[in-house]
Amino acid sequence: MKAMLLHEAKPIAERPLHLAEVATPEPAAGQVRLKVRACGVCHTDLHIVEGELALPRLPLVPGHQIVATVDKSGPGAHRFQVGDQVGVTWLNWACGVCTFCAAGQENLCPKARFTGLQADGGYAQYLVVDENFALPLPGAFSDVAAAPLLCAGIVGYRALRLSQVRPGQKLGLYGFGASAHLVIQVARHWDCSVYVFTRGEEHRRLARELGAAWAGGAEDDCPAALDGSILFAPAGWIVPLALGHLRPGGTLAINAIHMSPIPEMPYHLLYEERVLRSVANVTRQDAQEFLQLAAEIPIQAEVELFPLARANEALQKMKDSQIRASAVLQVE
Ligand SMILES: [Zn+2]
Ligand SMILES: [Zn+2]
Repeated sequence: MKAMLLHEAKPIAERPLHLAEVATPEPAAGQVRLKVRACGVCHTDLHIVEGELALPRLPLVPGHQIVATVDKSGPGAHRFQVGDQVGVTWLNWACGVCTFCAAGQENLCPKARFTGLQADGGYAQYLVVDENFALPLPGAFSDVAAAPLLCAGIVGYRALRLSQVRPGQKLGLYGFGASAHLVIQVARHWDCSVYVFTRGEEHRRLARELGAAWAGGAEDDCPAALDGSILFAPAGWIVPLALGHLRPGGTLAINAIHMSPIPEMPYHLLYEERVLRSVANVTRQDAQEFLQLAAEIPIQAEVELFPLARANEALQKMKDSQIRASAVLQVE
């Protein structure tokens, strides 16, 4: 099969992914082999190929927003039929027995493995995965339209819940890319007023098209006190500014796996019971809830397509903020 392999992490400008012909994996006991149709490109992939996250193994196939069809079941795997449409997310496997897993927090399982990091991901024609971590898709979406929902959408939805924003309240979004353009559709469905802080005029325009009440820069005065906010940009300098926009008791949820340092800041920004928290990974419960909601609304992902062999270019455009919303690799 063809795969985009990472042999050594380096800056995306040096095109770290190489198209290679590798052995098609065989499903082990309890696993299914999936034929990839589409794989969304995520900022985390950029952090991986550039070496900002520790890489447990090389070479590696990145990619964790995978829409695929079941191609073969391994011994003892009976959950799916050949041809079923399934999704694979960032959470590739969790132990199921630790205190975190038992408490519904499998996203924090210390033994968890992640797709496209500890396990080969979807920048390839095939992959294998534990059948219990493949998600049945609701059938409401094309392969390409479903791909960005699988990380940008699900993690964004988890961040929205952790921001504590309730229907009808005021939500702030800092950074407006793949994840925020899906989150705003849920928030508007909940009748929230959404305030978007992003640099590029093109991203501000997209935010207004999707119903933002206001769009400006993080340094601008926010026209309202916000009930809750999500920080998507991996930029620590925004944290004090975003806290300054929150009402007393409001929550700022940081949806970033890697971020530049948060500068020293005066305590009054946090006082009055404001909450600063991070968002880490996803659970299968998040995925199920979000995919159902996405089909009901229905959420429409704006997608720019690239063939598998041009994954470096997709990542480069994402790094340069040249992708309007989501980039997706189409895999033949
Ligand atoms: Zn566990
Ligand atoms: Zn992701």
